[in-house]
Parts: sequence; structure tokens; C-alpha cells
Amino acid sequence: MSFPLDCLFCSFASGEKSVDLVGQNGSAVAFRDINPQAPLHVLVIPREHYADVATLAGAEPQVLADLVTLAQEVALDQGDGDYRLVFNSGPTAGQSVYHVHGHVLGGKRLGWTPA
Ligand code: AMP
Ligand code: ZN
Repeated sequence: MSFPLDCLFCSFASGEKSVDLVGQNGSAVAFRDINPQAPLHVLVIPREHYADVATLAGAEPQVLADLVTLAQEVALDQGDGDYRLVFNSGPTAGQSVYHVHGHVLGGKRLGWTPA
């Protein structure tokens, strides 16, 4: 599989760099965020490289659907099944890695103050 040489998440998805997967399906893989912001904080990423969620939605809507299905499976496996799914899109919104990833957050009653 070809992928940007400098993309960390591509190297996780391809297995070139090892990461503990907490779930996967044909389109997507899930692993724990290195800097968790909640008791459950897992990233779900497509196996193929897309920069952000809108690009993925336009190109491969079924892969985005599979990503959301994986997020729910992780939330059920790791907790009570409730979760928040966040896609930071663009630097002002906090995106720092330009391989699309959904943050699966849960494990406690979540606040609502991203500001
Ligand atoms: P964002 O800021 O929305 O682009 O999210 C990127 C996320 O990737 C952050 O929450 C980081 O903590 C996480 N992250 C960065 N490097 C790693 C890594 N090596 N393993 C797991 N998560 C990582
Ligand atoms: Zn990538």
C-alpha cells in the first residue's frame, strides 16, 4: 500500500509501526490516544489516507460509515456503549494530524465546553 512517507497514522494502519489495536474492520482501525482526554479516548482511522472527514465522506462514504460503526463497537467493548465522536477539522479546530481520525470519547459524563 502506498502512503505519505511522513504520515504516522498511515504507518499505524499499515502495520509498519506497531500500535495496540483495540478494534478493526475492513476499512478502519482503532487505537488508544497517546494523550487521553477522557477515561475512554480511542482514535478511529481509515486504513487509507484521507486528510479530513469531508474529503473522506466525498471520496468513500462507505468507509466513513465503517469508521462510525467501529467507533460504536469500541465504545461497547470498552465501556457502556455511550460515546462522543469528534473530528477536529482544520488547525483552528485543533486538527494536528492530517490523516482523518475520529476521537471516540467516553467513560464518564462528558462536559460540553470545548472553548
Ligand atoms: P487532532 O489534534 O484532532 O489532530 O488529534 C490528533 C491526536 O493524535 C491527538 O489527540 C494526539 O494525542 C494523538 N496522537 C499523536 N501521536 C500519537 C501516537 N503516537 N499514538 C496515539 N495517539 C497519538
Ligand atoms: Zn495517512
